[in-house]
Amino acid sequence: MNMPQHAAPIAATFDLAKIRNDFPILREAVRGGRLAYLDNGATTQKPESVLYALDDYYRHKNANVHRAVHDLAERATTAYEAARDRIAAFFNASREEIVFTRGTTEAINLVAYSFLQPRLQAGDEILVTGMEHHSNIVPWQLIAARSGAHVVPAPVTDAGELDLDAWRALLNTRTKLVAVMQVSNTLGTINPVAEMIVEAHARGIPVLVDGAQAIAHLSVDVKNLDADFYVCSAHKAYGPTGFGMLYAKRAYLEAMQPWHGGGDMIRTVSFEGSTWNDVPYKFEAGTPDISGAIGFAAALDYIATIGLPAIAAHEHRLLEEGTQRLQNIKGLRVIGTAPGKAAILSFVMDCAHPQDIGTILDQEGVAVRAGHHCTMPLMQRFGIPATVRASMAVYNDSEDLEQLERALVKVGRLFG
Ligand code: PLP
Repeated sequence: MNMPQHAAPIAATFDLAKIRNDFPILREAVRGGRLAYLDNGATTQKPESVLYALDDYYRHKNANVHRAVHDLAERATTAYEAARDRIAAFFNASREEIVFTRGTTEAINLVAYSFLQPRLQAGDEILVTGMEHHSNIVPWQLIAARSGAHVVPAPVTDAGELDLDAWRALLNTRTKLVAVMQVSNTLGTINPVAEMIVEAHARGIPVLVDGAQAIAHLSVDVKNLDADFYVCSAHKAYGPTGFGMLYAKRAYLEAMQPWHGGGDMIRTVSFEGSTWNDVPYKFEAGTPDISGAIGFAAALDYIATIGLPAIAAHEHRLLEEGTQRLQNIKGLRVIGTAPGKAAILSFVMDCAHPQDIGTILDQEGVAVRAGHHCTMPLMQRFGIPATVRASMAVYNDSEDLEQLERALVKVGRLFG
């Protein structure tokens, strides 16, 4: 298969029509009409270059990695390890610090079980924020329950910002880890993670940053950030589902015991005992998601070709336009108004339940998420069961926002 024309690297200037053309699914009719895909916080669509990389791998390179001497195994291993180099370079990490996982959730669980659990004692605390995704709460609760430790949430303000003074006041000698999302999937709030890392480190506390909603929108340099652990998923950044990574400082990875056992993570196995492979392989038991790594590397290449500053500027324009359009809708209230937030618009309406709004929007071809967005504590904080969330990506345009506004006017007509 030859690489299709439209999968070639895109121009340095921001060309929205060309970008939209890179995503074949955007031409898909839904409910008999135009698709306005505004559910990017849940997962993004995939450009031709990523689809090509996945297809090319299975057509021309498919074999198991690290295990055989034949030509295809060599091609698969080379492509897989080249993907690790590409991914490491994108985040300014070294390849030994990038552990491949099934996604953000698995990466957080890996840190919970391999790093934190052996270090936790009764009375210890894991400091999170009140806006975290369930995947940055529940793994900590599971290990805390085993050791008598506690998960402590820092409060969120009415605007949907972290109350930084309150967070600071919660740091103490019992705090064994700070875990924080860089960008809120529900509110779009961008947390001051660099500042938080400095403050936690000043007290000798390691920090895990959940970058699931960040990497497609903000430049992330893990060295500069000085994060101890940084986790993300490929599928929220134009890559395949079921793939992600844990970045961890090498000293931590060296000191941590493996979490999963099996093939590839060992150096020697005997019934007297086994020894572990080098990092990062020590944490990658079993046949990995080879095409996932290759697809993620292609997705990061795609992002890099456009450039994160250009992507962020475009999404900011969309956020401003979207915010204005929502102001035209009677009885609509935006949840999350933090200054400088990412392009996520969460809202409720007086006249209808979010689920009903989502259903009407779907009939109009507008794909949004309606629900608690895996942030039930945050919903409790705002005293609401759910919101409707429109979350934007590089390929969204004014027409998508116009379609959203028209559909919301219809909601008002039907329920108002
Ligand atoms: N963290 C945040 C902020 C998210 O938005 C999500 C997914 O919505 C996750 C973690 C979990 O990601 P995954 O389901 O890819 O593991």
